[in-house]
Amino acid sequence: MAIKYVKLIKGDDIMVEVKNINGTSKDRYSNPKGCSSWITYWENKSLLPFPTYCQCEECYNRAKVGAHVKKTHESNKWYIVPLCYECNKKTEPFNVNEDDLVEVNKENTVDLW
Ligand SMILES: [Zn+2]
Repeated sequence: MAIKYVKLIKGDDIMVEVKNINGTSKDRYSNPKGCSSWITYWENKSLLPFPTYCQCEECYNRAKVGAHVKKTHESNKWYIVPLCYECNKKTEPFNVNEDDLVEVNKENTVDLW
């Protein structure tokens, strides 16, 4: 499991293309229910410690945020993934490990709908 955090090997990992969710639509997911931040939310749901490094493929910056993303080929589900500040601002799609996506939905978000 430690291998994942230093990103040495991508052998069995399934990479998936995602893009950032930007703009006002993100506001309805602004606060996770029962967690102080999206980082804690990600840890609680994945049962993993928040990774040291950004989970964007080919990026070796420190992970700083639990970013809101969706898969480019699946528009109806939203996910949290650990990213650095730079990747959190990307407007182009990028690849992440499918295992690092934690779904976020109405049930586990503070009700702002
Ligand atoms: Zn990054």
